Amino acid sequence: MGKLDVKILRYLTPEDFRVLTAIEMGMKNHELVPALLATQIANLRYGGVHKLLKEMCKHKLLSYERGKRYDGYRLTNAGYDYLALKVLTQRETIRSFGNQIGVGKESNIYVVANEEETSFCLKLHRLGRTCFRNIKGKRDYHQHRHSASWLYLSRISATREFAYMKALLDRGFPVPKPIDFNRHCVVMELVEGGPLCNINEVDNVEALYDELMDLIVRLANHGVIHGDFNEFNIMIKDDGKPVIIDFPQMVSTEHENAEAYFERDVNCIRDFFKRRFGYESELYPTFQDISREDSIDAEVKASGFARQIEKEIDTFLTENGIDYKEEKDNEDSEDSEEETYENCVDNIEDLKCQLKDLQLQNEIVVKEEFNASIRDPV
Ligand code: ADP
Ligand code: MG
Repeated sequence: MGKLDVKILRYLTPEDFRVLTAIEMGMKNHELVPALLATQIANLRYGGVHKLLKEMCKHKLLSYERGKRYDGYRLTNAGYDYLALKVLTQRETIRSFGNQIGVGKESNIYVVANEEETSFCLKLHRLGRTCFRNIKGKRDYHQHRHSASWLYLSRISATREFAYMKALLDRGFPVPKPIDFNRHCVVMELVEGGPLCNINEVDNVEALYDELMDLIVRLANHGVIHGDFNEFNIMIKDDGKPVIIDFPQMVSTEHENAEAYFERDVNCIRDFFKRRFGYESELYPTFQDISREDSIDAEVKASGFARQIEKEIDTFLTENGIDYKEEKDNEDSEDSEEETYENCVDNIEDLKCQLKDLQLQNEIVVKEEFNASIRDPV
């Protein structure tokens, strides 16, 4: 897993960031962004841009690749990280970097701090890539199609997480306080304590069990199911109180498979308590116990975060006087809608292999969001 060399942030000039952003924008419709297009989007001199592009390839923020019909640049993980971190630094949300404290299924987690030296947790969402190298053959054609959609998937994942955390905190749920987000990065309160999976003894097993089951029901009463409510996503604070984390996969209680997800969350806790503490109870909630009192699911959907992403990109293009549609070259204009859809479906396949036990859920949720984000522009 790539180390984050944050020192580079200090060396990159405003022009560097302009060029990086231009590649990001270009990747909206191009799998590889030709230097000329990058120059037009960045609105800088061609010669200057060319030099900057080469420099950023050296730092591995961009990679230069040969495509079937043309060559071009694309953003690497590190390049995308730096774009987000630059924004978070400029906003003074973060100032310094600490250790990496976790590598999740779909994320890297770091400790960061602000000016006042308050520590926070930084979660970098990483979706839709790791598996695709293992898939050979038919992937050749699609190889570059993947490059753009991991950007969107990771970004949607982070945005969802932030939106849910905020809605949950507002209603008094024990979740980390969301601080800020940009692109695929979320900054949140750092929970002092450790995940439940590392805990072998608790003062009152029954009380903790009841509290967790209560939380599952309360979430459902507010219209949502966590969807991955297990010992890795429940932190136990030093005072013994649970804090719930990891929300990108949350689903609505209106979802067609809601009952199955609900039961799975409940069973995760039952199984873990039996395994770890030898604790079994006849009391556990069922889907019928839900009494709806609020609609976090609808609220988060209505906030239109996926569409927001599209809007930002369009704004950037408009502000820079670029009529994007006219800039599409022949290759992309042939059947771009279908290919975009294809692009998305391919990513879902990758997602599946990354998230084995969450397969179905993520397939549906992310696919819906992703489709929404590419189908309903503006
Ligand atoms: P993933 O989606 O990759 O599973 P998580 O959000 O579950 O990511 O985070 C992975 C790990 O990072 C957690 O199990 C936990 O140990 C740590 N972690 C995540 N968020 C926080 C936080 N706010 N404070 C402290 N540790 C955290
Ligand atoms: Mg997790």
